[in-house]
Amino acid sequence: MVARAKTLSADEAFLKRLFRSYYEKWNEKPPKDFEKREFAFMMTKEGEMVRHKSFSEWSEVKEFLRRNAPLHVFYSSAYYLNPDAPDMDSKEWLGADLIFDIDVDHIPTPCKEKHDTWTCLNCGFAGRGMPPEECPNCSSKRIEVKTWFCDECLLVAKEEAMKLIEDFLIADFGFSTSEITVAFSGRRGFHVHVESDVVKELDQRARREIVDYVKGVGLAIAEGRGRVLIPPLTAPGWFGRVSRGVYEILSGRSIDELASSLGLKATKKFREGVELLTSSLERAEDFQALPSGLRKMWKVLVDKAVQEKRCEVDERVTTDIKRLIRMPGSLHGGSGLIVTKLSVKELETFDPLRQAVAFKKGYVKVRVHEMPEIRFLDDVWGPFRNEVVEIPAGLAVYLICSGNATIVKGGVRAC
Ligand SMILES: [Zn+2]
Ligand SMILES: [Zn+2]
Repeated sequence: MVARAKTLSADEAFLKRLFRSYYEKWNEKPPKDFEKREFAFMMTKEGEMVRHKSFSEWSEVKEFLRRNAPLHVFYSSAYYLNPDAPDMDSKEWLGADLIFDIDVDHIPTPCKEKHDTWTCLNCGFAGRGMPPEECPNCSSKRIEVKTWFCDECLLVAKEEAMKLIEDFLIADFGFSTSEITVAFSGRRGFHVHVESDVVKELDQRARREIVDYVKGVGLAIAEGRGRVLIPPLTAPGWFGRVSRGVYEILSGRSIDELASSLGLKATKKFREGVELLTSSLERAEDFQALPSGLRKMWKVLVDKAVQEKRCEVDERVTTDIKRLIRMPGSLHGGSGLIVTKLSVKELETFDPLRQAVAFKKGYVKVRVHEMPEIRFLDDVWGPFRNEVVEIPAGLAVYLICSGNATIVKGGVRAC
């Protein structure tokens, strides 16, 4: 039995009605071994999470969603003997999928200066772009952020996800694309799921190793017999990745640009070093000794190559073997968008503000508090600031869910 708030605000009632209409037609396939997973739901924005649910029939999940139209739906990455046991110890952990979370929240992108703002809730100090850890004015950690997901953010998140999948999961770890699924997180990123018996029983420490590898943590420069070694471009794993990264940095820019990007001086010695390294990398078929005098330059180049080739994943998600993750196919209550399941191939062309939109019919009148210009479906809307506008229902849901708009009286027509 789920406790229900007595009265819903106009916004909540509107969302409830639309979410219910979505789940009435919902026909998503079950995740692997769903009956061994814990399910969790949030019914309202402020409400508590309903946890420790389990279902033995998939039709029960559908019925639950239809009846309750939750704002958020999660399931455990873990498989349990007793998924509905109320405490974690008596659930009896059997294993877990390997999950990676790529979120633009954690990746610095230049567009954030344009569309993201933050405000210190303690002193009111505010700024644009990535929020600081603590307020630069009063050191408070109570920082409220307003974030948006633009086409530039989308591109960055996709590139990061493709890098994770192609360079690490497939090339280095040897998973096949059929073991990997991607889900649009519903907000600003992607979840990459690896469902394989090989990963199922990995403990937290093993998953930490995987995260460190993907993030390029703790790498050391290749050495042998006291000399620094240059790995061939084709070497497996990080060896070849670093050499390819260095080669890409060295190619395609002028000596002056290159020197300034590395924080070095464009001297004659630097130019000769670049030529020597480039030709060494081009002809190397095996590990070879670094030409003398280039140790400092090589180190700077390797550090930069690692920065460019590493993958920015949220380590808390991957190392947590009892994590609740959003269920693909469900709606994200913070955006109203569908947590869309994608194959690796579909990721490339995926467009969330078109393909993850659940509500494509009708218009709604809302008061928008603040919104930058947004391309939604086929049209561009905004920017709006504290004004009443009639906008597509899906965009209204997006804004209401993210706290950027409220329904105005009589604003809902058929949708
Ligand atoms: Zn402050
Ligand atoms: Zn952006």
